[in-house]
Amino acid sequence: MIIILFGPPGAGKGTQAQMLVERYKLKQLSTGDMLREAIKEGSDLGKEAKTIMDRGDLVSDQIILSMIREKLENAECEGFIFDGFPRNLEQARALDEILRKLKLELDLVIEIVVEDDMLISRIENRARESKDARSDDNAEVLKKRLNVYHQSTEMIKPYYLEKDKLVEIDGMGSIEQVRTNIEKHLLSKVKQ
Ligand code: AMP
Repeated sequence: MIIILFGPPGAGKGTQAQMLVERYKLKQLSTGDMLREAIKEGSDLGKEAKTIMDRGDLVSDQIILSMIREKLENAECEGFIFDGFPRNLEQARALDEILRKLKLELDLVIEIVVEDDMLISRIENRARESKDARSDDNAEVLKKRLNVYHQSTEMIKPYYLEKDKLVEIDGMGSIEQVRTNIEKHLLSKVKQ
């Protein structure tokens, strides 16, 4: 099974992805996590990415796509959950091409829908309270990330709607409610 978890920053994609990984034995491919790993390692790529991420902009498609290609080509399983990728139309089209070459098929794009006001308060709480707070978790950068989401990332919705792959999930409820809703869609997919 190949799934894309799609939604704005702070929508809970990472949390939901982790639960799906355990339940369906999928490999999580989070481009944000891969970049943070590169930053920790202190690689040139990591240094370049950090400046861009701290501004709330998107890292270049070239970097992102080569990371994704590398992971997919060397993976031993065929079940994946993409989290934070694709982020624009170019990445969505490139993913189709990569999957086609590997003879894999995307099953479902799950959009977690959360209003901007709630995202802002969630991220502000994460920045205040959590040991997991990130250097891009602050009000100013979040606003930029939300703008980028509305201007670039949301553009991939019509692309997947046309392919009849997109489902919308209400992401305003509890973690448990959101998980139950996602599972309903996945079960109907698995039964088909
Ligand atoms: P995330 O952890 O998914 O919220 O990503 C954190 C930051 O990493 C984003 O604000 C971007 O700067 C960068 N990033 C993550 N995934 C991508 C992607 N698919 N394309 C471009 N930039 C990305």
